[in-house]
Amino acid sequence: MLEISVKCIGCTKCVAVCPFGALSMSGKKAVVNMSACTLCGACVQICPVEAISIKRETASKDFSSYKGVWVFVELEDSEDLSAEGDIRKVSFELLSEGRKLADSLKEDLCAVVFAAKNKNYERILGEYGADKVYFCENEEFTVYNTDIYCAAFSALINKHKPSAVLFPATVKGRDLAPRIASALYVGLTADCTALSIRDGLLVQSRPAFGGNIMADILSPNSRPQMATVRPNVMKISQPKSGKIAILIREDIKIDKNMRRVKVLKRRMEKASSSLKIENANMIVSGGRGMKSKERFRLVEELASVLGAAVGASRAAVDMGFKEKSHQVGQSGVTVSPRLYMAFGISGAVQHLVGMKNSDIIVAVNKDPNAMIFTAAKYAFIGDAHQILPKLTEILKKGLKKD
Ligand SMILES: Cc1cc2nc3c(=O)[nH]c(=O)nc-3n(C[C@H](O)[C@H](O)[C@H](O)COP(=O)(O)OP(=O)(O)OC[C@H]3O[C@@H](n4cnc5c(N)ncnc54)[C@H](O)[C@@H]3O)c2cc1C
Repeated sequence: MLEISVKCIGCTKCVAVCPFGALSMSGKKAVVNMSACTLCGACVQICPVEAISIKRETASKDFSSYKGVWVFVELEDSEDLSAEGDIRKVSFELLSEGRKLADSLKEDLCAVVFAAKNKNYERILGEYGADKVYFCENEEFTVYNTDIYCAAFSALINKHKPSAVLFPATVKGRDLAPRIASALYVGLTADCTALSIRDGLLVQSRPAFGGNIMADILSPNSRPQMATVRPNVMKISQPKSGKIAILIREDIKIDKNMRRVKVLKRRMEKASSSLKIENANMIVSGGRGMKSKERFRLVEELASVLGAAVGASRAAVDMGFKEKSHQVGQSGVTVSPRLYMAFGISGAVQHLVGMKNSDIIVAVNKDPNAMIFTAAKYAFIGDAHQILPKLTEILKKGLKKD
């Protein structure tokens, strides 16, 4: 709440500084339109007589009715606009992590599905840890729509009051989660790399200040606590065969007029000739140490022999060795392949955060003190330009014999 006291001298400085046009003059006094005010505090700082103050709600609220960890289950898109795709892998990653959080809190893990038809979700999601599935059934959900999903999800949250909600940091999740956070006036931590429970609160850890420090973010004053997590950050737990979740059908009324955008046709990108790093089992990556686009081909040749995807550090992308879609790391893609090979990559924290979950990391670097070696299982100190062609040759011969 913004308050303007009798101390106001009518200098109009606050009106000029407000980025949201929430302040105006009424006679010789400033007045605020609270529906436009975002409590950004610019007016408080500029006021020469300290007539403006913000009263934030800090009193400890009773959140005892908020229970349960929820996961938004994202479905794949398909070209057929009348059919839903399969469950995206990231949903299983979030359920696996959500299970640990729910166990710590001794609360239920609930999956939230928006779809036109139930495709045995209680069985599939139950095996990955869900105790309950809130199944929101409506033809309107077949094609993702920001307005409709936001209204429906917010209504569901208001009805059942979960303590935490996890979203994938995908195109849909990154669109939906902030809308809901804004609609419910709660916080949201984007791109978390770790989640845990401390004193009953969700600890949302994510890189901050350019990735140089890890910040633990808490939301003690609002519910639900909301976070997004990128694909490939959390590991999928072993599914429990035969575990079935309780299916709760939610009849959510949809006002079709809410839909401001209608998808008329969807054309899916044809599978490109090069493997995508997102879901690759093996990735061979190169960095600035590869020196030129021509020499970067040595990385690509090894990848081709192994049937691996090609990754790159940001420096390699910036230097034009590879396209941005191949960038691994904080501002690229987070990956977790079985095998990650790094050639001429120093191992800056922003790169490590995107690949450290790989099962086996092999690194080749001239510098024995390179940070990449701290994450590597197999570390080779040497010249990548010499090692790469030899390794490719040996593997070519070995693979031919098999
Ligand atoms: C906000 C922010 C986001 C970022 N996001 C990302 C991101 O998503 N991904 C990312 O990768 N970076 C990211 N960065 C950049 C990151 O900080 C590093 O600058 C970058 O990762 C360095 O790339 P590199 O390791 O290829 O290059 P360098 O750090 O220059 O390392 C080159 C390495 O090659 C080695 N080398 C040289 N010649 C040879 C040779 N012949 N044989 C073997 N080794 C050799 C050197 O010893 C050195 O270790 C980000 C930075 C910021 C601030």
